[in-house]
Amino acid sequence: MSSADAPTEYSLYPPPADAVARAHVSGQAAYDALCAEAEADYAGYWARLARELISWKTPFTQVLDESDAPFFKWFADGTLNASYNCLDRNIERGLGDKTAIVFEADGGEVRRVSYRELLAIVSKMANGLKSLGVKKGDRVVIYLPMGVEGVAAMQACARIGATHSVVFGGFSAQSLRDRIEDTGAVAVITADQQQRGGKSLPLKTIVDEAIALGGCGSVKHVVVHKRTGADIPFDASRDLWLADLVAGQSEVCEPEWVEAEHPLFLLYTSGSTGKPKGVQHSTGGYLLHAALTTKWTFDLKEDDVFWCTADIGWVTGHTYITYGPLALGGTEIVFEGVPTFPDAGRFWKMIQDHKVSIFYTAPTAIRSLIKAAEATEAVHPKNYDLSSLRILGSVGEPINPAAWEWYHKHVGGGRCPIVDTFWQTETGGHMITPLPGVTTLVPGSCTLPFPGIQAAVVDETGKDVPWGQGGILVVKKPWPSMIRTIWGDPERFKKSYYPADFHGKYYLAGDGAIRDPKTGYFTITGRIDDVLNVSGHRMGTMEIESALVSHTELVAEAAVVGRPDDTTGEAICAFVVLKRPRPTGDEAKKIANELRNWVAKEIGPIAKPKDIRFGENLPKTRSGKIMRRLLRSIARGEAITQDTSTLENPAILDQLSQTN
Ligand code: ATP
Ligand code: MG
Repeated sequence: MSSADAPTEYSLYPPPADAVARAHVSGQAAYDALCAEAEADYAGYWARLARELISWKTPFTQVLDESDAPFFKWFADGTLNASYNCLDRNIERGLGDKTAIVFEADGGEVRRVSYRELLAIVSKMANGLKSLGVKKGDRVVIYLPMGVEGVAAMQACARIGATHSVVFGGFSAQSLRDRIEDTGAVAVITADQQQRGGKSLPLKTIVDEAIALGGCGSVKHVVVHKRTGADIPFDASRDLWLADLVAGQSEVCEPEWVEAEHPLFLLYTSGSTGKPKGVQHSTGGYLLHAALTTKWTFDLKEDDVFWCTADIGWVTGHTYITYGPLALGGTEIVFEGVPTFPDAGRFWKMIQDHKVSIFYTAPTAIRSLIKAAEATEAVHPKNYDLSSLRILGSVGEPINPAAWEWYHKHVGGGRCPIVDTFWQTETGGHMITPLPGVTTLVPGSCTLPFPGIQAAVVDETGKDVPWGQGGILVVKKPWPSMIRTIWGDPERFKKSYYPADFHGKYYLAGDGAIRDPKTGYFTITGRIDDVLNVSGHRMGTMEIESALVSHTELVAEAAVVGRPDDTTGEAICAFVVLKRPRPTGDEAKKIANELRNWVAKEIGPIAKPKDIRFGENLPKTRSGKIMRRLLRSIARGEAITQDTSTLENPAILDQLSQTN
């Protein structure tokens, strides 16, 4: 895109000159050249990058193998080790004394770990696991809090060729049990407790409960990291302390060289739309995209301090904590706590204290911190020195323009490009995203595909729809870090992502999108099943949510769903969290009316929600995503019978069931 034909109806943010000057991908011509290279020789493009970014034990000769489509293979005859690439290789390059991880605990204590130290920790853990008989191909469930041990446990598994499956520490015994059973893990690595928001919360006892629920017969060992020193039950035949396991182990552990397609990890999706799926990722293709996107999207450099606030229990924590930044020899923050403890200025204080230069977080966190900063002056980012920041990122959900503008102005000081990265657990890394030294930003748009990614918007027959018209988001060609299968359920893999009744033979993301008529920029309009049809007008729920949230004086957060309606086909139902206490009675009616008129003014009368309900919060997954499928049931007045294993705050459902 040249600036001449950029849309004028939005605020535009061209890349700052200094960002262009120092970026790995610098300027539009550089981006265009990469896209052209991929266009001209798709396999050759990825092969070149795989040779440049990854160290292979046995170099690959095959690149993309489509013979068993849609079970694609990449670099299949090459061998490598992910942990070697993230640790040893950096030490060989002279980065042994460089800080790999700056860990900040919930209570504020800081621990720095160099690459050399991290390699020693990982190798001892890897040798310990080997001493228990854990070997290549075994699955290991990791149920640990955020910390050096969490990252090290993942790296230790990778080092010996065991496939890790991290389960977020907020999950219940039942959810943990389901994942242990599905993976058939031979060992679980956990901690006595975790520390979050000033509170000690159980972990080991939840593992005990999960195993007691049955179906976990594969588990031979439970390794326990001592985090708080709490008194916990111990079954000597099965449980052992991590400290005892690694004591006396050698700091040297020869990496297990695995084939590129060897499963590095299994990770269950967040469950926003259905029962979580065990997404299987490869080693070679995955690691390539983790490193490449960290390099190009975040422009990670030698002197940067990178902070991704995600938990290692989510894919974002895998790609942008455990693998990407370490593969590049970066310095990163690992944070144990929550953004609101001891107060909602925690993120800003940590950016100031550690001189964070690249900051990556989720819209849900930004929205809650906006609400907090507007309520309490002292936790507003303006009270902190955030001048070290140079790039900001967003992931997980569409970021509404109002939150984007706030993030840009108050956190980024108006100087930092925001990379709004669209991707999924299944994609392994960024798919559609701005690049900081290239892209002119438009709030609310994830802009253009990462070079080499063939994203497109099509109709049900797989035909491209014209720019300006909404459709289904697909990826036309396989890419290195894509999901390989759903663990144990190849049929569900095919049905979910390459369904036979879909004509394009393309990867189906499950999201809707629309491209800007002038620039071709992508905007995600919501999940495919979130498109509403009101009296023949098709609307994305996201559009109505953005309109509601743009009433910045009243609205903190909003979610919109449809429900069947006799006259209009579908009716719009909005769930709203206000910046003031939850209203009831006449006050609720008055505010609901004001919001209806607001939406009518912003989008048009057709978009006026028929039903508006107020809650203190919205039902969210444990990764902070709004669970619209539950809201759909509530809107229809149905009992909730679906999988709620990933729901964080069940109590909120009752509140939202009350009509005004
Ligand atoms: P499940 O697949 O189990 O229903 P999920 O889709 O929420 O859960 P994830 O893989 O964590 O699981 O999330 C990927 C989804 O998050 C995307 O498909 C998209 O809907 C949304 N998403 C992520 N990043 C962005 C973004 N930058 N803009 C818009 N949407 C995004
Ligand atoms: Mg999904």
